[in-house]
Amino acid sequence: MAIATLLPATTAFIQRAPRMLIGAEWVEAADGQTMPLHNPATGEQLCVVPRATVDDVDRAVLAARQAFDDSPWSRTRPRERQNLLWKLADLMQRDAELLAQLECLNNGKSAAVAQAMDVQLAIDFLRYMAGWATKIEGSSVEVSVPLMPDQQFHSFIRREAVGVVGAIVAWNFPLLLACWKLGPALATGCTVVLKPADETPLTALKLAELVQEAGYPDGVFNVVTGTGITAGAALTHNPRVDKLTFTGSTAVGKEIGKIAMDNMTRVTLELGGKSPTIVMADADLGSAAAGAASAIFFNQGQVCCAGSRLYVQRKHFDNVVADIAGIANAMKLGSGLDTSVDMGPLISARQQERVWRYIEMGRDSGATLACGGERFGPGYFVKPTVIVDVDQQHSLVQEEIFGPVLVAIPFDDEADALRLANDSPYGLGASIWSNDLAAVHRMIPRIKSGSVWVNCHSALDPALPFGGYKMSGVGREMGYAAIEHYTELKSVLIKL
Ligand code: NAD
Repeated sequence: MAIATLLPATTAFIQRAPRMLIGAEWVEAADGQTMPLHNPATGEQLCVVPRATVDDVDRAVLAARQAFDDSPWSRTRPRERQNLLWKLADLMQRDAELLAQLECLNNGKSAAVAQAMDVQLAIDFLRYMAGWATKIEGSSVEVSVPLMPDQQFHSFIRREAVGVVGAIVAWNFPLLLACWKLGPALATGCTVVLKPADETPLTALKLAELVQEAGYPDGVFNVVTGTGITAGAALTHNPRVDKLTFTGSTAVGKEIGKIAMDNMTRVTLELGGKSPTIVMADADLGSAAAGAASAIFFNQGQVCCAGSRLYVQRKHFDNVVADIAGIANAMKLGSGLDTSVDMGPLISARQQERVWRYIEMGRDSGATLACGGERFGPGYFVKPTVIVDVDQQHSLVQEEIFGPVLVAIPFDDEADALRLANDSPYGLGASIWSNDLAAVHRMIPRIKSGSVWVNCHSALDPALPFGGYKMSGVGREMGYAAIEHYTELKSVLIKL
């Protein structure tokens, strides 16, 4: 067992009880209220952070509004925005280990994995978005204007920053999700108020320090820590916000979408998932089993596009399930600071209880546990679990569990696989494991999801748009699609 040593900077950051950033000021909540954060590996309190009030959120939005409407930021050139984003990415690279340790202590995930994946993907994404800052184009078009046949015109279409962005994110990839919002916002010239998840604000607060150090003007990036019900709702309702971008559950996303429409606030919703992993008979079964295990067990199954439904062509079903159960049984659970550990705790006692209820529901309804089905403490651990003998319409198959629980069902042929894969309210991702190129290409257009992976799962790239069909959301993050979501079009017609 090798335990990573905490950097002095990590300990110092936590011990000084971090504050929120509103405009230029690091502040407590207006009423002095705080909320505790816990280490999911031990259940122990880590520190407290401010519990923002509605007033705090309003002040943060006002700071972002002023920075957008009338500050040096509103006049920055694309090249400056590019360079600032590169600078921010460089500072994150410098502090990668610190960011990863904060993520580990606050979220429970492995510090080593957080550094190699969460932090590095966030850095890569910001650098990718820095490139877009200098490539945002409008267009010109030759117009006819039928009502004025004798006139000459010049017309063009500008793509302009949408304005003040209210960003609300989930706790499963706190830093990465924040950067998915921050990158396109800063590349296009928007300003941001970020409300991190109640449970995991630490890396967002560190990110705010780095934004200041990079040299962004005051008010461009603000972070309010607090609850969804108070701070999140205040941000959602604030009419000075031009765009809301939300990553979280479908239930909350729907509410945010409705409120956004009251103010005609632009909105992007990245919501839940119940993504299928489809293993065809001709697949390389060893890779498919390893890939399916990683698709569900990575990040303790707390991944929006986790491969939480496994469909295997019938003749190989038992073998593939046995292989995945073998992988699951060999996984070592423990603190994310232990470099020999394969799986950490869930985020909270509440999440552990929620996942446990689903496992109990499976047992009670006669499903069979191929492995797992145990929980232990004092942290919030649930063993990787595979459930078979379960009907497609069962809640275990239809609902997002958001934990290390895989349900596996056999299928007979391609049509059957597609029917089962699409029989879900969600449509975030899907993977097909097969070497039959023709079958794969027949299936790709028929799968109703925002991403389809072939012989891999949850593989993301900054250039590939990510988002959901159906209940998995509205809009896309990453790629040029993100730039479109953070800009408005303005048509200009000049009579000559
Ligand atoms: P959640 O919806 O409970 O919370 C997400 C965020 O919304 C938090 O910051 C929370 O404080 C805030 N919030 C809660 N109630 C609110 C309200 N009434 N008004 C405004 N804000 C409110 O989700 P969660 O449990 O934190 O995260 C898990 C969910 O996120 C899963 O469903 C998962 O699939 C989804 N997710 C989706 C993606 C994606 O890209 N599609 C990525 C990660 C997570």
